[in-house]
Amino acid sequence: MTEDKKRLLGKIVITGQIVCQSGLHIGGSGGNLDIGGINNAIIRDPLTFQPYIPGSGLKGKMRALFENITPKSLDTRKGRHECSDKSCCICRLFGSISKKEDNIPSRLIVRDAFLTKETLQSLETIETDLLYAEWKTENNIHRITAKATPRQYERVPKGSAFDFSMVYNVQNLDELAQDLQNIFTILRLLEDDALGGNGSRGHGKIKFTDIKLWPRNSDYYLEGEDVESKEIYLDDQDNILAEICSVFKENNQRTDD
Ligand SMILES: [Zn+2]
Repeated sequence: MTEDKKRLLGKIVITGQIVCQSGLHIGGSGGNLDIGGINNAIIRDPLTFQPYIPGSGLKGKMRALFENITPKSLDTRKGRHECSDKSCCICRLFGSISKKEDNIPSRLIVRDAFLTKETLQSLETIETDLLYAEWKTENNIHRITAKATPRQYERVPKGSAFDFSMVYNVQNLDELAQDLQNIFTILRLLEDDALGGNGSRGHGKIKFTDIKLWPRNSDYYLEGEDVESKEIYLDDQDNILAEICSVFKENNQRTDD
């Protein structure tokens, strides 16, 4: 199949909620979800002072998990995988700048995730000294003296929910189903991993809920014709993915006629 890989056939918006099943600590330094403990404050929106999950950090975590489970070589200098193979399942989803002339643009955009209205309302009423957050104190025990040194972490309380959204650019119909499947594999992996700092000590267990796919082919943007959104479950995706892919295949056939 000859297909111009740069052509944009449409977009699929993926929305849903990230529900914290334990306290969530995303450190305020550098937006990297793995940094915690250097600065014990969480990252907040500078205008509203509300905690949020930066899209850059969420995407970085997703990429790292996917790289860990996919047998591809790692760049020892960068400590991650990047190549110039345009069909590479990691690089086409997350992008690659391995060589100047062979850059692969990322098909996946991950937006910042903000607390849901319901969570904001309930957190406004909790009694802590922190806005929309709580302190968690942990003790470091000195092995010889048994002296405990308490450390405090700011974190978003268990039960809080964030609205997340991602956009997948549809550029190649042959790779569409595989890319979507990979995205949902990564979300399942992330549910069994941890988001943010101190994951090995129980922070950052999350669940993705109310996941909806909003397929938008060229008709949507050119003619304003909307396609119904579909709800998807991480453990049961096959039928829905086939339906979503057909939205772009049928649309593409019509434009080719
Ligand atoms: Zn690659």
